[in-house]
Amino acid sequence: MEKRMVKCLVCGAVFEEGADVCPVCGVGPENFEPVEASDSTFSKDTDEKFVILGGGPAGRAAAQAVRERNTEAVITIITMEDEIPYNRPMLTKALLKDHSGDALAIEAADWYEKNRIYMMKGTRALSIDTAGKQVALELSDGSHGATQYDKLIYTLGAFCFVAPIKGSELEHVVTVRNIADTVRIRDIVKDRDVKNVVCIGGGVMGLEGASTMNDEGFNVTVLETSSGLLHRQLDDKASSMLKDIAESKGVKIITNAKISEITGDAVVLEDGTSCPAELVLMSTGMRPYTQLAEEAGIAVDRWVVANERMETSAGSVYAAGDCAVVNGQPQAFWAQAEETGRIAGANAAGDDVVYEPIGSALVMHAFGTAVFSLGTNGKGPDGNPDPKYRCESEADEKAGTYSARYYDGSNLVGAILVGDISAMPELTKQIDF
Ligand SMILES: Cc1cc2nc3c(=O)[nH]c(=O)nc-3n(C[C@H](O)[C@H](O)[C@H](O)COP(=O)(O)OP(=O)(O)OC[C@H]3O[C@@H](n4cnc5c(N)ncnc54)[C@H](O)[C@@H]3O)c2cc1C
Repeated sequence: MEKRMVKCLVCGAVFEEGADVCPVCGVGPENFEPVEASDSTFSKDTDEKFVILGGGPAGRAAAQAVRERNTEAVITIITMEDEIPYNRPMLTKALLKDHSGDALAIEAADWYEKNRIYMMKGTRALSIDTAGKQVALELSDGSHGATQYDKLIYTLGAFCFVAPIKGSELEHVVTVRNIADTVRIRDIVKDRDVKNVVCIGGGVMGLEGASTMNDEGFNVTVLETSSGLLHRQLDDKASSMLKDIAESKGVKIITNAKISEITGDAVVLEDGTSCPAELVLMSTGMRPYTQLAEEAGIAVDRWVVANERMETSAGSVYAAGDCAVVNGQPQAFWAQAEETGRIAGANAAGDDVVYEPIGSALVMHAFGTAVFSLGTNGKGPDGNPDPKYRCESEADEKAGTYSARYYDGSNLVGAILVGDISAMPELTKQIDF
C-alpha cells in the first residue's frame, strides 16, 4: 500500500502520516499538510552504479529519488555511522535516551531492503578519484577497499566545531552530532557520577541540551559568549525573556562569558568564576565536511559548491545537504537536506529538476516554553537593531509570552514568538524572506 505522507508547515520536513509530533521540530499535527509521496513521472532504467556518500537525510532522500526513477540501478549508501539514517534533531531533545535499535530511524531497515538500497554502515570514505570514478574506503572491519561509481552523490553533512578552549580535549567534554555521542554522554554520566553540567554555547542545540539535562535533574549552567541567547535568531526582548524563563527553571545562564579553561571538574571564566562541571556539552557551531571534495579537486567555497540542479564542478558528482552551498546559499536545516538530496538524486538519475530554495524556521521547545523565529530578527549585520525594519510587538511578562512582527515597508519579513507559538503556521505562510 502506498504510504501517505504529510509535510510540516513549520520546518518543511516530510514524513509518514500518523506521527503525534513532527520528528524534526516537534510541533503537533495541526501544522501538518498532506503531500503526494512522489511527484516523479520520469523513468529511466539503467544498470548504472549510484554511490551516495553519507547516510543522513540528504543521502537517504537522494537514494529514494534515484530508485523512484530507476528500478534497475545499483544504489549504495556509504556511512561511517553504525546506524541507518535517523532523525538527528531528536538527539538534543532526548539526550539521555537509549537510541539503539534504530529507534530514531527515518525509515525502517526493511525499507532499504525493499528498495534495494545497499547500506554500507561503519564505512568511511577516504578519497574520491573523479577521473577513475572511484571512492577509496575504510571498511567496518578496518580493511581498505574501493568502489566504482557512475554517479556520485556527496552528502557528508557537517561536524561539530570544537572551540579552541584549553581543556576542550578532556574526556568529559562532548559535542552532539551522532547517536554515538549520546552513548558517550550516558557513559560519562554513569562513570563520573555527574551532578553538574556546563553547556558551552547558547544556540538552539546548546539550549535544547541544557533544557534536557535540567529536566533530568542536573545542575545546569549555560555559557554564552555573546550578549544574548539565540542572538542571531531573536531580538533583544525575546532573548532576555528566554533567559528569564530558563533561569526560572533553575538553569544558570552567563552571557558575555569569557572562558579561560576547562578543568577536570569545572569550567573557569577569565574573571575567576568557576562553574562546576563533571560533564561539558560543547555546542559552538558546525563545519561542513568538505575535505574529500577539496582533495578531489571539486570546487569548495567553505561548502561544496553546487548549482540549482545540485551538480558540482566535477562531472557525474552531485552534492546536497549541510555540506553544500547552493547558488551561494548554505543549507543547514533538515528540510533543506531532504529537498536538496531529492534534487541531487533525481538529476543524477537523468531527470531535470531544480531546487526551489526553502527557508526553515527556528522552532525550539525548551525550559517549558516554545520559541519560534523566521526571517529577520530586526537586526543589521552589526547585530544592532536596524532602523529599516518597523517592529510591532506585544509582551506579557507574567504569562511569559512575546510576539514581534518585523516589516520592511509593508512587507512582513520576520516574526518572533515566545511562549505562545500558535500563530506559527499563519506567519510561515505570510513571511516574505
Ligand atoms: C543535535 C542536532 C539537532 C538538530 N535539530 C534540528 C532541528 O530542530 N531542525 C532542523 O531543521 N535541523 C536540525 N538539525 C540539523 C539537521 O540535522 C541537519 O541539517 C541534517 O541532518 C543534515 O543532513 P545531511 O544529510 O546533510 O547530513 P548529516 O545528517 O550530517 O549526515 C551526513 C552523514 O555522513 C556521514 N559521514 C561524514 N563523513 C563521512 C565519511 N568520510 N565517510 C562516510 N560517512 C561520512 C556522517 O557521519 C553522517 O552520518 C539538528 C542537528 C543536530 C546535530
